[in-house]
Amino acid sequence: MSVSALAADQSACPDTEGALPVLGRDVTVPLVTGGEVSYAALDYAASAPALQRVWDDVAAYAPYYGSVHRGAGYLSQLSTDLFENARRTVAGFLGCRDGDQVVFTRSTTDSLNLLAATLPAGCRVFVFETEHHASLLPWRDADVTFLDAPRTPAQAVETLERALAAREPYGPALVCVTGASNVTGELWPVRELAAAAHAHGARIVLDAAQLAPHHPVSVAGLDVDWVAFSGHKLYAPFGAGVLAGRADWLREAEPYLAGGGASRKVTRRADGGVDVEWHDSAARHEAGSPNVIGAYAIASACKALTEAGFDALVAREEYLIGKVRAGLAEVPQVRILSLFGADAPRVGVLSFVVEGWNSSHFAAALSAEYGIGVRDGLFCAHPLVRTLLGSDPQAQGECGAPEAAPGEKSLNAIRVSFGAGT
Ligand code: PLP
Repeated sequence: MSVSALAADQSACPDTEGALPVLGRDVTVPLVTGGEVSYAALDYAASAPALQRVWDDVAAYAPYYGSVHRGAGYLSQLSTDLFENARRTVAGFLGCRDGDQVVFTRSTTDSLNLLAATLPAGCRVFVFETEHHASLLPWRDADVTFLDAPRTPAQAVETLERALAAREPYGPALVCVTGASNVTGELWPVRELAAAAHAHGARIVLDAAQLAPHHPVSVAGLDVDWVAFSGHKLYAPFGAGVLAGRADWLREAEPYLAGGGASRKVTRRADGGVDVEWHDSAARHEAGSPNVIGAYAIASACKALTEAGFDALVAREEYLIGKVRAGLAEVPQVRILSLFGADAPRVGVLSFVVEGWNSSHFAAALSAEYGIGVRDGLFCAHPLVRTLLGSDPQAQGECGAPEAAPGEKSLNAIRVSFGAGT
């Protein structure tokens, strides 16, 4: 079987009717076989292209750029207003409750590390082994229980309930869960997991890095305590992310970074030391000059997605998922990776292996011969991908790594992902 047979269904770019305008549609890339082809961006799960609307909004604001919370001049005041309005827009987009805080960070990874830095003493953390490393690893200094990969959404809830019950009684506890897997695209039962966490007195943070670009996320509606996501996966690639949710742990913790902006008052003590009063607001964890363009871009993307309407976006994406699935199903050598079953609801993210093919070579060939950009590797979710591949947990597969010998199991996979701009 040739790569072209597999690429045939995707090289015909999916119908773009109803797609939101994004940058990069006109980009052509050279092919090793000669000539050029229109680039097919199918790696939204890593970084989605910027929405044209986001780009336009940022360009319109750029001449007025000024320092935030640090100037009396008109442009500084304007920038401060835009930054604080962006915070309110994000709070609305996420359905935050009264009193919730929206902290601008660099990314989901940064947001979850920030939350990890605010855990009360003795906090227990419960996390599935299936998580992206950004959700799996920040809790290493806490008392972490790693939960085995469930094979159904119901089993995920049972597994969590059992683990929470087994470790009672405890003081503060946190569950960290991803809303949509960056490997399989499958949707996790967030509401049910939140109910289980709360029934046992634990809190829950939702890693919405892959969910927020595809489905509406409501802090209040899902009854989660915090949500984290990244701007660059939400069509706003300007280096900002968000942690939103309950204020108490954030307010009680030492600032994530120490510096100007986080501090309300700094005084020199008689003994020569320094006393600091920190802000109680989100500014406590935003020391230094904030990324106003990043925050503004996120707010612009939130508005664009809200105006387009998630009902329409979801319906369109489901059509595309169906097309990709149907195309892959025609190739018997393809095995789609799934925890919850082939028909489980998912966002536009799908990983697979092709029997007899080295996944890295396959992905490289899609790029070099067809101009199709996908990702290969273990997708920063090594335990999950190894479970799905059925490979040895100690196996060394990684992006670009040598593939298993003929007849052996794949060590890594290929991922196709798309979204509102596809
Ligand atoms: N969580 C999930 C589910 C992801 O897919 C990713 C990135 O792929 C992250 C967290 C980390 O996001 P970032 O690299 O923007 O920090």
